[in-house]
Amino acid sequence: MPEPAAPVPVDLVVTADWVVPCDPAMTRIQDGAVAVKDGRIAAVGGASEILDRFAGGERIDLGNQLLMPGLVNSHTHATMSLLRGIGDDLPLQRWLFDVIFPAEAALVKPDAVYHGTLLSVAEMLTGGTTTFCDGYFFEEEAARAVVDAGARAVLGQGILDFPSPDQPEPAKARERAEAFLAAFPRGCDRVRPSLFCHAPYTCSAETLQWVKDLCREHGILFQIHLSETSKEVEDIQAQHGERPAFYLDRLGILDSMTLCAHGVWLDDAEIELLAGRDTAITHCVESTMKLAAGITPVPRMLAAGLTVGLGTDGAASNNDLDLFAEMDKAAKLHKAVSGDPTTAPAEKILAAATAGSARAMGLGAEVGSLEPGKRADLVAVDLDRPHLTPLYDPVSHLVYAVRASDVSRVWVDGKEVVRDSSLLTLEVHECMKRANGLRHTP
Ligand SMILES: [Zn+2]
Repeated sequence: MPEPAAPVPVDLVVTADWVVPCDPAMTRIQDGAVAVKDGRIAAVGGASEILDRFAGGERIDLGNQLLMPGLVNSHTHATMSLLRGIGDDLPLQRWLFDVIFPAEAALVKPDAVYHGTLLSVAEMLTGGTTTFCDGYFFEEEAARAVVDAGARAVLGQGILDFPSPDQPEPAKARERAEAFLAAFPRGCDRVRPSLFCHAPYTCSAETLQWVKDLCREHGILFQIHLSETSKEVEDIQAQHGERPAFYLDRLGILDSMTLCAHGVWLDDAEIELLAGRDTAITHCVESTMKLAAGITPVPRMLAAGLTVGLGTDGAASNNDLDLFAEMDKAAKLHKAVSGDPTTAPAEKILAAATAGSARAMGLGAEVGSLEPGKRADLVAVDLDRPHLTPLYDPVSHLVYAVRASDVSRVWVDGKEVVRDSSLLTLEVHECMKRANGLRHTP
């Protein structure tokens, strides 16, 4: 009889009553375990099998908890947490041009971006979001905050054709973008640079094209807001004679390294076009609802095979960065609107907030699910709560019942960053004090 194989040494084995890896089959593992080696997932499976095959390192038994991959927020503006709650209940164009842009002109400096991003990362990590996609100004500072706080992000330097906080002369936008790429912190692969054209109505064709060319040259993600309001669709059609997605395609912008936020007003032909180009959409359901921008055709996008991620957008239009709440709203809104309760099922919405968002950001091979070889970004959800008892289906709970405050522990790259629902990487009260000191005074 052959000798039983010696256990493989790993750094960490975590067992839990439930493991939901968010793999393509949306597996649910009762009495499951995850083994971690060198910051990556070594194996996922039943606890007894994993404990037989792997040994050494730290061993954590979570008991009545659920282990899942870190959620992925594929569209936000982290610094805007400093503007949470100003300009509520206004139409989008007035909110943006009368409230937000003037506030940003006064507030947004490198220091505000660093501390505003720290504040947002504190909210996201303790709420189970380990990776996010950002678009703002002074994004070198945002990168520094993400490195210090222990999260993971793709950080897009914002570009518009009119003066912005770190680009007073739009004619020098290219110089600024190149300086950003040159200054981007190296040596930490949890942060990646990106360029973020605000929208087709704030960036000329020429700007869109040089930015996309620069992204291709550097192999980085190009981000843009697309078809958030019906007005911008009408304006683009009047100006360029075609709908926004076809306009971007004519400029050569659409490919798998372009990520469009919103897509509320995309028609069927545009959805087919984006699916064919492998260009993803981030659905920001709460922001879109709050600004009454319209109903994003998510069921038609999913049916067309489009990659759909979930995002919170900035806290100034949400007003939080809670992806559990976002999943709940997305699953329910599309049922209410379609009159069909089978629309936007929990499995599809959970997939959008994990693997979908990761793929949308160009990180599909790295994060978004617990599968061997991927980064060990793990989130533990405490199930020992009245609103989570009893449990029939862990996926149902994750979408419809779990709250961000149920997150108990979080690891990024196999390193623990949240324990007992508290952040280990930052002094959160100090962070809030700094944020209060930066509050906007109109
Ligand atoms: Zn946005």
